[in-house]
This record gives sequence, structure tokens and C-alpha cells, in this order.
Amino acid sequence: MIFQSDRVGQIPPYLFAEINKKKAAMIKSGVDVIDLGIGDPDLSTPEHIVERLMEEIQNPLNFKYPSFIGCEEFRQAVADFYERQYGVRLDPDTEVLALIGSKEGIAHLVPSLIDPGDTVLIPDPSYPVYRMATHLANGHSYSMPLKYENNFEPDFNSIPKEILKRSKLMFLNYPSNPTAATVDQTFFERAVSFAHEHQIPIAHDSAYNMVTFDDYKAPSILQAHGAKEIAVEFGSLSKSYNMTGWRIGYVVGNKDIIKSLSILKSNVDTGQFTAIQKAAAFALNSDQSCISRHNQIYQERMKAMLDGLSTIGVHVNPPKGSFFIWAPVPEGYTSTEFVTEVLEKTGVIVTPGNAFGPAGEGYFRVSLSVPTQRLYEAVERIKQKLSVKIG
Ligand SMILES: *Cc1c(COP(=O)(O)O)cnc(C)c1O
Repeated sequence: MIFQSDRVGQIPPYLFAEINKKKAAMIKSGVDVIDLGIGDPDLSTPEHIVERLMEEIQNPLNFKYPSFIGCEEFRQAVADFYERQYGVRLDPDTEVLALIGSKEGIAHLVPSLIDPGDTVLIPDPSYPVYRMATHLANGHSYSMPLKYENNFEPDFNSIPKEILKRSKLMFLNYPSNPTAATVDQTFFERAVSFAHEHQIPIAHDSAYNMVTFDDYKAPSILQAHGAKEIAVEFGSLSKSYNMTGWRIGYVVGNKDIIKSLSILKSNVDTGQFTAIQKAAAFALNSDQSCISRHNQIYQERMKAMLDGLSTIGVHVNPPKGSFFIWAPVPEGYTSTEFVTEVLEKTGVIVTPGNAFGPAGEGYFRVSLSVPTQRLYEAVERIKQKLSVKIG
């Protein structure tokens, strides 16, 4: 007897499992492993946000079951943020929904919008949750390959008509994990007009909306003409304010899509702890200089790592956003072979591109989520131990 549904049983084994086994063995044998595989930043939540939580946690009014759609302060703070950042007006009562982290909302959106057998259009490579949630909802994933020559944007016109007819949802994600690609507003205009033409709702994942460099400002899909009629956007406090463990995010945009998701959610969970929502509202409403401070650190690390990679003949255009580098593996290697060689020679872990979908083969992802000194150490090891061999 196996106590497991077919759907759970069919979830493919974690591609990184082999690397993790090797990592454990190397640490055991005394190797100083530097893990650039994880997407969880080392930087800490700014103190003013932590202090606000400590105040909120002492207010018994916050101890009750939270509101299904999120507390008013949080929804209003998200609406105010959209007006400030993008010039987009949102009704906090119908166009904003609080989430227990955006991953939760993304996973629950799929069964809110599709029935078994329906198709979901998913970027390849991408954040694995889009594909897994579709699988768990008995839906079909259609991969939209993201190619370097297209700025890692999907080619909408290459999707077959029969697929479009069966598609009930499309995911997009910029600044992108894992490709670090960014887009300008004209891309979202094209995406939204395509969505209207084929009546396919879009869910844009903007987890890295505020992790951007120099004068690049990531646009919102809701700035596109007619977007509110067909699109929602997921956002999160996780990456902007280093609050990954707090589990607080939101979805904004089309009110019918948000209504469907909130009906499903109100029958599954009861929302995030109100004290956390209130501290998150405070984060959105207060001084934002912590964001540019953190971005500066990521950009510094990015420069160091790009420099290190160029010594082994791996050249990447400097990303305008996210804390990832998406790099082609040197000639003659598969993603897995290269990642294994890097680990064995230098003790540095990077993620094989195919972990994010078959179109990720031939690439590897570097996450800049370790303290800067450790990052420099990783760069040194790559320069010394790999440049002779590969470069
Ligand atoms: C980290 C990440 C998320 C999840 O964020 P949470 O709000 O912490 O659940 C969503 N999408 C992408 C692409 C991410 O990298």
C-alpha cells in the first residue's frame, strides 16, 4: 500500500537531489562549500519592520482569525504602493488580496481558474511552482521556451492555435527567475493584447519588482492598456525586504480572477497572521531606502561574479534586475556535467539550468545570496581552479 495520490507520485524527483548528496559528502570530508544554489538572500529584514512586528504582536486584536481577503491596512498599503510606483489605481476591497507568500497564491490560482484537462502556458525555464500547480490540478503544461535571442521573452505567435483554444491561463515573470531577464512596458502591452485576442488570463509574477539596478525601473503588467480586464500580478515582500520566512505577499488586478482565488482560499486557509500583515503594511508605507541599499549590494556582487565568470570564458550581459546570473555553460558540457565539475573542483554550488525546465539545458544559475566576502571567495576559487582547465 502506498499512501500517495498518482499526482503526487508523478512529481519528478528534485533534480538538485544528486548535488545535495554530493554537498553533504563534501562538507563531511571537510570541504568549505559555498552554496550559490539557493534563492534565499542572506541579508536580514530591516530593523524598523521587525520592531513594528514586535509592537503588533502585543495587540490582542491581532490574535483573532484574520479577514479572508487580508486586513484593511495591508490591502490599502499595497494599493498605495501601486499608485506611487506605477501610477496604477486599485480598489483595495476588490482588486487586492493578501497571500501567505506569493507562492501560495500562485499554487491556488491554478485550480481557481482551470479544470482537469485544461492547458496552462508556462515559460520554460521558470519557477517550478507554475508547472507543479498545473500538474496537481490535473492540467496540461504547455512550455513557452525562453531564448537568449528573444531577450528570454516567449514568442506568442509560435503557440499553436489548438493549444490556445484549450488554454485557460498564462504565467509570466519579469524580472525573471532564473533568467534575470527584464522587460519594458511594450512587452506587457503585447502580452495583454495577445491575451485579449485569445481570451487567456495572464498571471504575472513580479517577485523581483523592486530588485533592480541603476535607473532601470521594472514595469507592472497593470500599466498596460486593458490589463485589469484580463491580468493579475503577484507581488511579495520576500525579496524586496528580505522577508522570505514571514510568508506575506499579495495579488492585484482583475477582480473576477481575484474573486475566484479568494473563494478557493477561503475554503482552504484563513489568511496570514494579522500582526505580520500590519508589519508588512508598515514596510510598504515607510522609508524605502533599505531597498536601494540592498540592491547596491546585489549589484556589487553581480559585478564581481560576472568578472570571475569571464575568466573562464563565460560572458553574460549584466542583468538589470533580480539577484541571479543566468549563464551558458562552457562548450562541451551539459548543465549537470558543468555544475558537478564546479562543485568538485571549487566547492561552489550553482544550479543546473535544466532544473527550471528542459529549455534551461545548457545554462546554469548563480544566486548572489551569500555574504559578499564569501562571494568573493567563490570568485577567487573559480578564477584559480577553473580558468586554466576551461578558459
Ligand atoms: C521567491 C519567488 C517567489 C515566491 O515568493 P514568496 O512570496 O516568498 O512565496 C515567487 N516567484 C518567484 C519567481 C520567486 O523567485
